[in-house]
Amino acid sequence: TLGGLKGEVGKPTDTIDGKHIVLSGNIEFKREMAMITENGGAGVGLFRTEFFYLRDNALPTEAEQAQTYAEVAAACEEHGVIIRTFDLGGDKLPNSPFDGPEPNPFLGWRGIRVSLGRPEVFKTQLRAILRASAHGKIRIMFPMVASPEEVVQAKQILEAAKAELIDEELPFDENIEVGAMIEIPSAALVADLIAPHVDFFSVGTNDLTQYTLAVDRVNDRVAPLFRSTHTGVVRLLQHVVKAAHDAGIWVGVCGETAGDPTFTPLLVGMGVDELSVGPRQILTIRHAIRQLDSSECAKLVQRLVAGASTDRIEEDCRAMAMRCY
Ligand code: PEP
Ligand code: MG
Repeated sequence: TLGGLKGEVGKPTDTIDGKHIVLSGNIEFKREMAMITENGGAGVGLFRTEFFYLRDNALPTEAEQAQTYAEVAAACEEHGVIIRTFDLGGDKLPNSPFDGPEPNPFLGWRGIRVSLGRPEVFKTQLRAILRASAHGKIRIMFPMVASPEEVVQAKQILEAAKAELIDEELPFDENIEVGAMIEIPSAALVADLIAPHVDFFSVGTNDLTQYTLAVDRVNDRVAPLFRSTHTGVVRLLQHVVKAAHDAGIWVGVCGETAGDPTFTPLLVGMGVDELSVGPRQILTIRHAIRQLDSSECAKLVQRLVAGASTDRIEEDCRAMAMRCY
C-alpha cells in the first residue's frame, strides 16, 4: 500500500549492487508536479504538452507556453523537466487540429511529422521552450521520430529559433539538451544512426509495443496481445540501450512499462539509466529498484532474448517483483 511505501520517500534509487537509476515523473498538467515533489522524484521525465490543445481546442501562444514551461521547470529544481514537443494526432487527437479525420490516425500525421509539416507552429513552441530555459533546467524531446533525418530537420528549426532569440536579445540556455523518443520500430533499429544527433533517448514503450506487435494500444479486443515483454519488443529495447551507451548517451523509458513493477527487473537488466513514471508510481518503482540485483536482472533479460517463453519470464519477473512486497 502507499502508506507502507512512505518510507521510500527520500531514499536513493539504487539497486542492491549500487546501480543508480534516475526516477522521474510523467505529467500532463502543472498541478501534477506536487506529487512528484512529495515523493522525491527527480523532476519530470516526460511533460506531455498536448494538453494545451486538448484543453483549449486551440494552439497556445508563445507567451502562454513559455510561462507554463518556466513554472514547471522552477518546480523541478535542479533535476529539470524534459519537455516533449506536441505529439498531436494518434490517440491524443484523432482529428488533427490542422486537418480532417484520417482513416488510420496511428499511422498518419502525428508527432514530429505534424511539427515538421507546420514549422511556424513548431518554431513558436521551440521559442517558448528556449525562453523558459532561462529560468530553469529544461531538456527538449521530439516524439514519433522514425529516422535520423527528422531529428536533423527538427534541430535546424531549433537553431533558427535560437538565432531569432539572439537577435531579439532574449536569454536562453545555449547548451539545452535535445533528445529523441524511440517509439517507432524503425527508430529503434537505426538508434545508432540517431544517437550522434542527440543527447539522450527516451523509449516510449506504449507506441513501441503497439507498432512492433501491430496491436492497437487503445483497442480492448486485442489488449491481451499488447505485451511489452514480447521477445521482439525486448530485443528492440536491448538494441536501443546498447546503441545509446555505445554512443555515450543516456537512455530512459517513459512508457507505461516504466511504472509497472513487473517490468522493473527487465528494464534494470537491460541497463536503462532513467525511468519516468506516473507520479503515483514513484514510490512503488523506487521500492522495486531498491530490492533488485542488476546482474540477476540481466540474466533474466538474457533468458528472454535467447527464446525463453514470455509467459515464463513474466512469471519470474512477477516473482522478483513480489519478493519486493
Ligand atoms: C509512449 O508512447 O510510450 C509514450 C510515453 O508516449 P505517449 O504515451 O504519450 O504516446
Ligand atoms: Mg508515444
